[in-house]
Amino acid sequence: MIIQLHKNCTAQEHLVLDELLAQNNIKTVEINTQFNHYLVCILKREFDIRHIGNLACVKDVHRVTDGYKLVSRQWKVNPTKIDLGDGVIIQEGDFTLMAGPCSIESEAQVERIVKELVKNDVKIMRGGVYKPRSSPYSFRGLGIDGLKMFHAQCQAHGIKIITEVMQVSQIREMADYVDIFQVGARNTQNFNLLDALGEIDKPVMIKRGISGTIDELLQSAEYIFSAGNEKLMLCERGIRTFESAYRNTFDINAIPILKEKSHLPVIADPSHGIGIRKHVEKITLASLAAGADGAIVEMHYEPEKAFSDGQQNLNFEEFGGLVMKINKLKKITNSFVHSVSY
Ligand code: PEP
Ligand code: MN
Repeated sequence: MIIQLHKNCTAQEHLVLDELLAQNNIKTVEINTQFNHYLVCILKREFDIRHIGNLACVKDVHRVTDGYKLVSRQWKVNPTKIDLGDGVIIQEGDFTLMAGPCSIESEAQVERIVKELVKNDVKIMRGGVYKPRSSPYSFRGLGIDGLKMFHAQCQAHGIKIITEVMQVSQIREMADYVDIFQVGARNTQNFNLLDALGEIDKPVMIKRGISGTIDELLQSAEYIFSAGNEKLMLCERGIRTFESAYRNTFDINAIPILKEKSHLPVIADPSHGIGIRKHVEKITLASLAAGADGAIVEMHYEPEKAFSDGQQNLNFEEFGGLVMKINKLKKITNSFVHSVSY
C-alpha cells in the first residue's frame, strides 16, 4: 500500500495516522522525493483503506500488491515524463533517441559527433568517461577531465549528456556536467550506488543487469525512487543466455512487460542488445514497434577505430538512415502502440 501525504501535513496529523497503522501491525517507510511525500506500507494481511482515506494528512491511498511499490503502475497509471530542460522531454509517444560513441575519446571526436547529432536533430549524446571493461588492460575512459570537455562541447550546441557513473564517489564531481546518469548493467545491483543516486536531483537511467530478471530491474529502480529520486528510466540492454551467435539476447518481450508493470519510461539499447552493427537498425525499429519510449544507440564516424565496442557502433551513414526510418515508422506506430492500455 502507498499513502500519499499532503506536503503540509502537521506532526499531530501524522501521529494520528502512525498510531492507526501501528495498531494494525503495518510497517511503514517514509519517503520524501523531489516531488512527493509518501508512506510505503508493508502489509501482512488485508487492510481496509477506508480506515485512513479521510484522515487530514492523507492525500491519496493506493493498494499495491507488487513487491516493488513506487515504480509500479498499479498506483500511477499515467506514464512518467523526464524533463531535461530546454524543451527536451522523454515521454511516451516521442521515442527519444540518445546516440554517441561507446567511449569519449578526444575533443575532436566529440566535435565531429556533436555536429552529426545536430544535423539529425538528436538532442541527447551518450558517451562513457568511466568505462567498465572486462579486461583491466582495455581503455577505461578519460575520466572527469574528459567529462568536462564533453560537457563544454555539448552545451555549446544545446545537446544533453547521458554518461555512466560507476561508483558513489564519482557522483558529486560528475553531477554538474551530466544530464542523465547511466547505471550500467554491471552495477544494476550495486545498492550503495542506487541509494546515493536516489539522494540527488538528476535523472537516472538504470540498465537491466547482465543476467538480471525484470523483477530485479524493477526492485533496483525502487531503491533509487525510495531514496528520493523520481526522475528515473529503465533500460533493456539484453541479457546473457546460452546463445552465442550474438553478444547478448535482446529481450524484446521486456519492453511491453516493463511498460505494463511500471510507469517509468522504457529505453531500448539495441547496440549492446545484439552487439552486431548491421543488425542494430532492425532491433531499434523493433523496439519502437514494441512500445519503447526511446533508444540509446552507439555511433562513431569510424567504428573500426573506436576505442571500445566498435563492432556495434553505427557509422554516420547508417545512423542517418536509422533516424530517417525511425521518423517514418513513428508515423505509423503513433497511431497504435500508445493506444494500448497497460
Ligand atoms: C555502455 O553503455 O557502453 C555499457 C557499458 O553498457 P552496459 O552497462 O549495458 O554493458
Ligand atoms: Mn558500449
